[in-house]
Amino acid sequence: MNTINLRTMMEQNEEINYPIWHPFSTVAKNYFNQLMIERGNGIYVYDNNNKRYIDACSGLWNVSLGYGNSKIKDYINKQLDKISYCSLFEHTNSTAILAANKILDLLPDSMNKIQFTCSGSESVDLAIKTMREYWKIRGKETKDKIICIKKSYHGTYYGSMSVSGITQEETRRYGPLLPNIVDLDIPNAKMVEQEFTECAEQLEHYIRENHESIAGIIIEPVLVSAGFEIIPINYMNRLYKICEDNQVLFTMDEVALGFYRTGKAFYFNYTDFVPDILCMAKGINSGYLPLGAVTIHDKIVQVYKKSGACLAHGSTQAGNVLACAAAVAALEEYKELNIENNVLQEGIYFKSELASKLNRCNNVKEIRGIGLLLSIDLVHENKIDCLDEKKICYIQSMLSKEGLLVYRSMAGLILLPMLNIKREESNNIITILKSFFS
Ligand code: PLP
Repeated sequence: MNTINLRTMMEQNEEINYPIWHPFSTVAKNYFNQLMIERGNGIYVYDNNNKRYIDACSGLWNVSLGYGNSKIKDYINKQLDKISYCSLFEHTNSTAILAANKILDLLPDSMNKIQFTCSGSESVDLAIKTMREYWKIRGKETKDKIICIKKSYHGTYYGSMSVSGITQEETRRYGPLLPNIVDLDIPNAKMVEQEFTECAEQLEHYIRENHESIAGIIIEPVLVSAGFEIIPINYMNRLYKICEDNQVLFTMDEVALGFYRTGKAFYFNYTDFVPDILCMAKGINSGYLPLGAVTIHDKIVQVYKKSGACLAHGSTQAGNVLACAAAVAALEEYKELNIENNVLQEGIYFKSELASKLNRCNNVKEIRGIGLLLSIDLVHENKIDCLDEKKICYIQSMLSKEGLLVYRSMAGLILLPMLNIKREESNNIITILKSFFS
């Protein structure tokens, strides 16, 4: 493998004075592989020198159907010819209704209302508001705590930031954040048995002892950025039951996983339960225009209905008609292309091919994942110690030089290829990785 040379990294990290202050960056920071992307087609993006890259992160995990999808472009253009904007405050429109119905078609009957947002962060904020308001409407004023998971990421608005354990160090300076947020650990598949049991006991004990003051819990089922920690399905079932028995609302944040990333339409389809609140965004319209959504269980809808309480949420662009037109197209494409099947098949193929081709490579420990969400866990030559963030960053930038864009976590590299990827394209990604790590 290419030698991990920290000096080269530092040399590459020269300051360039862009007018943009990029997300999660210092004023001067430029990423090692900060490319000037100019255009895209299918799974490929091209930089300002016309160099081609395979985008194996689907943009920021959202461009599920690739760039330049003709159906999505067509639906957006047709909508533009009709009307470019329609407020959902005073009016409604058939495109937004169609998009909502197509999302509901993927969900159980007990979820029958869609609230549109502009982003995943806004979806999470709305979920937090709903968890608290629900109990107030029911006269249980003391139930206002939200439990979140220490290493989770839920976004950057005040609510979503307050429940994002992973960014707590960086966001402390924005404080005070939301009050009554309790962050706890959750068992994950990497834990040994005793650690798992202790962690589960702590979380469950907290819920049982404090349920009178807890409104709800928010879960990111795979803690992707934290180190790709997967919460086992059996444990999610158990946790949901404990929440249900203790009158604690269960929000599933599927901003990253929803719309087939793991094979099923939603990750909760692998569990035995339907969450009380579901947050969505990224894959909702394959990232062509900003859009998010939240759906709440009918038991919550009925409480709102009976009380006559109005939804005190909404932003000018939430449910933007062009974004909804893109969602209609993307949701039709998911069905027509049998995306569920492709994700499951290509996911299995990727996992087994990468495992067999990379398992003897020095720095590769393990290939993990579900559907087309895969982690290549990286370690030092001793095969035990994890690589630090800088080295993972460096490997990521070297791969981009080889024409492959991947994401990274604290455990290593993350692959999130487009959901409609073809076998030949999967093989091209595997070949680049194999030659890089050998
Ligand atoms: N929740 C999860 C699980 C996410 O992965 C993200 C973004 O990566 C968000 C929420 C925030 O979404 P957005 O960046 O659209 O605000």
